[in-house]
Amino acid sequence: MVVLQIQQSNGFVSSVSRARTNRGRRRASNTVCVQTQKIMEKISVGGEAGGAGGAYSYNALKRLDNIWSNICTQPTGPQETQQIVSRVSGFSQDYGMGNNLVGTFDIVVCGGTLGIFLATALCAKGLRVAVVERNAIKGRDQEWNISRKEMKELIEVGVLTEDEIEEVISAKFNPNRCGFENLGDIWVEDILNLGVSPAKLVETVKRRFVSLGGVILEDCSLSSIVIYDDLAVMQLSKGDTLSSRLVIDAMGNFSPILKQIKRGRKPDGMCLVVGSCAHGFKENSSSDVIYSSSSVTKVADSNVQLFWEAFPAGSGPLDRTTYMFTYTEPQSTSPSLEDLLEEYWKLMPKYQGVSLDELEILRVVYGIFPTYRNSSYDSIYGS
Ligand SMILES: Cc1cc2nc3c(=O)[nH]c(=O)nc-3n(C[C@H](O)[C@H](O)[C@H](O)COP(=O)(O)OP(=O)(O)OC[C@H]3O[C@@H](n4cnc5c(N)ncnc54)[C@H](O)[C@@H]3O)c2cc1C
Repeated sequence: MVVLQIQQSNGFVSSVSRARTNRGRRRASNTVCVQTQKIMEKISVGGEAGGAGGAYSYNALKRLDNIWSNICTQPTGPQETQQIVSRVSGFSQDYGMGNNLVGTFDIVVCGGTLGIFLATALCAKGLRVAVVERNAIKGRDQEWNISRKEMKELIEVGVLTEDEIEEVISAKFNPNRCGFENLGDIWVEDILNLGVSPAKLVETVKRRFVSLGGVILEDCSLSSIVIYDDLAVMQLSKGDTLSSRLVIDAMGNFSPILKQIKRGRKPDGMCLVVGSCAHGFKENSSSDVIYSSSSVTKVADSNVQLFWEAFPAGSGPLDRTTYMFTYTEPQSTSPSLEDLLEEYWKLMPKYQGVSLDELEILRVVYGIFPTYRNSSYDSIYGS
């Protein structure tokens, strides 16, 4: 019996410590975060989704900053974590599965944002597949950018048709710049040059999955997995039970399985990303795949190197998405997402050659991506 971990290249909550309290005090006294709150509270928040970068509200920003703050002050080394996956010798039938058995599947995919794509490809191969998702399986309004070559792979594996791909593409742009401040630019074509609507894309794939016989369990979290000699038996938050021959973890960076595998260890690094989608850009035909600033910028109590990404949005010809991101070690002096956003409102207009007054901010986006020096996965049961 196998549990597979699916992670994006680009995965924790710990106890509150004294250091965290100090950090909170530092922030309150040293950093004045006013513009972000003012801007965000003016925007009506719709189309939020459960996946990474799917929340747009000021309250959700505060919640993510709290998680990030806890990571920063977490001690290094293994921590006590909830045991989601356990191993029991013997056959499942010897233990019984209770009265709430939803079904027995070839594969259960846990996490339905990108998980639904994988599940549909497996269903198209004739396997009996279920998807378990904590929220609704739903894509966010904020576009994903992607290359056509990557989209075509979804046709090859039976997830989408050529026509469906055209229907979900909301923006196309060329050329695309990789810029290095003071060192020059490299222009490329057809790299990350499509904006796709995650809302439409996920809905289309969800329909295909169901039409192929896939089973969806939404609004219920995976609580535990017991691995027997013949089957994995999953317990869900609402009391349902599922069993399968293979479990695929597509629960993203905050997967409880990943947390168990990593023994609750603090990440070695964090990629912090903030940005916005705004209306009012007159120059809006090309994109920046990446633009790196060569100088060091002081944000709150930290020196950081900033990177940018910008591309036209599908909502209108003057609408453009701009991301600013940085890599940092999780420590008490690291900037919060709100600190970064305060800096963003100052630097983004300069980088994009506009004034903030000319822009209507349509949406504010943010996310955190943990990184580990040792990215290999240990055995989940310990050595
Ligand atoms: C601001 C921002 C912009 C981005 N832009 C792009 C982009 O343009 N293109 C791109 O390719 N990527 C982009 N990304 C990367 C983004 O992480 C991915 O696009 C995508 O969201 C990753 O999907 P995932 O399914 O791997 O993980 P997640 O999006 O984290 O989804 C994990 C899913 O698992 C579910 N889940 C978690 N725990 C449980 C549980 N216990 N039981 C059941 N379900 C659970 C969650 O509800 C969620 O739906 C961006 C990210 C951010 C933050």
